[in-house]
Amino acid sequence: MSIRTNPFDDDKLKEECGVVGIYGVDQAAARTVLALHALQHRGQEAAGIVVFDGRQFNAHRALGHVADNFSSESVIARLKGFAAVGHVRYSTTGETVLRNVQPLFADLEFGGFAIGHNGNLTNAYALHRDLVRRGSLFQSTTDTEVITHLMATQLRGSVIDRLIHALQQVEGAYSLVAMTGDMVIGVRDPLGVRPLVLGKLGDGHILTSETCALDIVGAEYLRDIEPGELVVLDRSGVHSLRPFPSAPHRFCVFEYIYFARPDSVVEGSSVYEARKRIGAELAREFPVAADVVIPVPDSGVPAAIGFAAEARIPFELGIIRNHYVGRTFIEPTDHIRHLGVKLKHNANRAMIEGRRIVLIDDSIVRGTTSRKIVEMVRSVGAREVHMRISSPPTTHSCFYGIDTPERSQLLAAKNDVQAMAQIIGVDSLAFITIDGLYRAMGHSARDSRHPQFCDACFTGEYPTSLTDQGVGPPAQLSLLAETA
Ligand code: SF4
Repeated sequence: MSIRTNPFDDDKLKEECGVVGIYGVDQAAARTVLALHALQHRGQEAAGIVVFDGRQFNAHRALGHVADNFSSESVIARLKGFAAVGHVRYSTTGETVLRNVQPLFADLEFGGFAIGHNGNLTNAYALHRDLVRRGSLFQSTTDTEVITHLMATQLRGSVIDRLIHALQQVEGAYSLVAMTGDMVIGVRDPLGVRPLVLGKLGDGHILTSETCALDIVGAEYLRDIEPGELVVLDRSGVHSLRPFPSAPHRFCVFEYIYFARPDSVVEGSSVYEARKRIGAELAREFPVAADVVIPVPDSGVPAAIGFAAEARIPFELGIIRNHYVGRTFIEPTDHIRHLGVKLKHNANRAMIEGRRIVLIDDSIVRGTTSRKIVEMVRSVGAREVHMRISSPPTTHSCFYGIDTPERSQLLAAKNDVQAMAQIIGVDSLAFITIDGLYRAMGHSARDSRHPQFCDACFTGEYPTSLTDQGVGPPAQLSLLAETA
């Protein structure tokens, strides 16, 4: 469904989206652009902003990076207003076309309503089918539009009542920002799978997926939005509601391992520190005699620092990442594709030749990139290659807003660790255990009856029902291109 613009990123899980909502601040759009820059790692396929200036809504949505679409003065000048919602997207539901770019906007009975969503609903197809039967005409193929149709078909109540009524019918993961002419709204699903934080920005407030976006706009972090909490930002400040029955929290543990930016603080814990602790735990669980610890950049770096410190083995940058590959390299030939891994990563011979190395990476998805990286370090003379992974084996797909391949494509779904080591070509391979991961996150072990996190891609224990797995997607008009 998704257009892959950089084929060498294919062997990573992909975060779906990042969201921003600002109320009560001049030039809200310009600040939203800055915040979206900080969230770019959460979605690189499209970006959008909707603003309200007290009289009307204005929107700009486009495929591509934030910098590609929000750098021109004329775009920002058109987006005047004191309230804004913004979104960066990586699609897991719906094609990558303009009509799916968020924030979505609808004219409802009470007026304009814009909404941006991080997460994925697990009963959207079933709800979509019912809504279409009752006469709803969908404009996009995203799961998020189900929420606006559920609001539209609720004939009574305030905006908030209608939103709550809609959310009471959905299952899955959502951190939402929404906007009407009077307010900006933030909501986290009752399990709190995806992050959402609140900050103070000048005389107003800001909601965003990660604290790194607060830093870039100069906002002060106030708190995380609680799982199951709905907040309203309006002229009189911040109002908090708890409209859903309380449920055990199941924050996505993979946010700590890979998705969130290392300079963010998520649910009270520094992502960077968490990754270092995971690396140290990995070193305790699976020590190895080696001369040097080398991260697979960039995401393997903090875990490798933690591993090296615990194992008392020197840490070196033995693989150098080219940060400028970006999206310029589209549709390579097979021959070029084979060379492609060197376009993004190159071995630093001076740190590798003749040495026993430990490679640290955050995950193995299909295993294709790992195999090429191992070939690369062997080609410059590594004497032994050991690989340590700072997540347990990824054996199941995610249905909560992370793009994972079909289960059959996951290397760990079909192979044990020994077989994976052979396929990747390493002398030894080990993954942190699930209990080791929980220890690194400050728990004595995983509570098997009430796990403290969502860890379904490692355990197969999904915290919600997966209604759509038995339903399948609705018939869709497939638009491969669309212009603004
Ligand atoms: S299945 Fe994995 S990636 Fe998806 S929300 Fe759960 S822990 Fe996160």
